[in-house]
Amino acid sequence: MRSTEALACVALALFSSLASAQADPRLARELLRELVGIRTVHPDGDNTAAARAAARRLLDAGFDPADVQVLEPAPLKGNLVARLRGTGGARPMLLLAHIDVVDALPESWTAGLDPFQLTERGDWLYGRGVVDDKAAAAMFVAILARMKREGFRPKRDIILALTADEETGTHNGVQWLLDGHRPLIEAEFALNEGGSGTLRDGRRIRMGVQVSEKMYLSFELEASNPGGHSSLPRGDNAIYDLAAALDRLSRLNLPARVGPVMRAFAAAYADDEPSALAQALRAIAAGNPSEDDMRRASANPRYNAQLRTTCVATRVEAGHADNALAQKAKATVNCRLLPGDTEEAVRAELQRAAGDRVQVRAKGTLRPSEATDPASAVMAAIAREAQSTWPGVKVIPVMSAGATDGSRLRNVGIPVYGILPVFMEDGDWVRAHGRDERITAKGFEEGLAYFDRLVRTLSAGP
Ligand SMILES: [Zn+2]
Repeated sequence: MRSTEALACVALALFSSLASAQADPRLARELLRELVGIRTVHPDGDNTAAARAAARRLLDAGFDPADVQVLEPAPLKGNLVARLRGTGGARPMLLLAHIDVVDALPESWTAGLDPFQLTERGDWLYGRGVVDDKAAAAMFVAILARMKREGFRPKRDIILALTADEETGTHNGVQWLLDGHRPLIEAEFALNEGGSGTLRDGRRIRMGVQVSEKMYLSFELEASNPGGHSSLPRGDNAIYDLAAALDRLSRLNLPARVGPVMRAFAAAYADDEPSALAQALRAIAAGNPSEDDMRRASANPRYNAQLRTTCVATRVEAGHADNALAQKAKATVNCRLLPGDTEEAVRAELQRAAGDRVQVRAKGTLRPSEATDPASAVMAAIAREAQSTWPGVKVIPVMSAGATDGSRLRNVGIPVYGILPVFMEDGDWVRAHGRDERITAKGFEEGLAYFDRLVRTLSAGP
């Protein structure tokens, strides 16, 4: 009965390959559930517990304990670093995700949704971190676990780092690893958060890959005055001086700069905009915008943020009593600098606009931000894999207006591609950090499958 035996063998092989292919989403979902259930918020949440939960899944899959480390620079601030060993034919690649999250108050979420418990409603998975950034963490672990079980031997080592304090807190895991344990995460390039897929009316239209990010820096404006009794107002007044300075600042437009990322971004978005704005974006993409084109694009906050360093007043504080003339009036102006702009140049612009009755000084220090080459081979592989998975989808390099850990790696020479290969409508992405954060179960599974193929492709070497 040899042919029957052979058939049985084929059936068994088919069954076990299907079983292993299906094990992935289940493991990823289970780990996502476990990670969401661990409240990894600063300062009292337990990042170490989350790192250990992820480590356990890798050890269960057969990883050598020496290749799975939880490093804890301070209590509760643990980071996981794991390594799937390759043949050494190429330099390692790094998969990075932070496992800390922004806090969430259960009472500010929709009734019945606990931010720190994964809740399934229809095709939606709700919970703090299901988008930012525990989804990627769970996917990466599931991918490595499956590779280990298969005995997959990549050409390059695949390093996984799940880290603490990306959102806030003083023990940023990536920085701590770079400063004291750099060989553990040294890599030719890294995948991290920062990009995502956009659905429009259920249709996949584009996938952004973060290749650079703006730099965060706040300035303080301060007006001073001798003050006095409010029954005797005088010609000079700290509050009016500050208000006048802020009014001038509200009209300050720092110069626009158009580089290759902005041009690709404008080209990709042009099709989605009404005709006048679309024409302006096409001119920017082509490198020959008129003043009118620039004005039109700048009137839209999304494009304005890509075109220039922006500054906006976010807080004011003045006076000490209802019946006294203010001695101090202060405002915080938060700026997001384009890569290449400097603290001193922006401060000088703010001071010039504010006038000489107000002092402008930087609060904190600027962390520089290098950019990743959007024309690299890795970027091409990301786009190719996306095209074969979702034909017709546009893959575009983007600059984040906000900040991620990507800049820390780019600044030491490790190119970073920010990507979460999940497609949702814009309104669903903005729930990250806010209420009712959610991801579709289908998107999560598709994203996992895409990442699995991409990591295999990239780990095969240059
Ligand atoms: Zn994040």
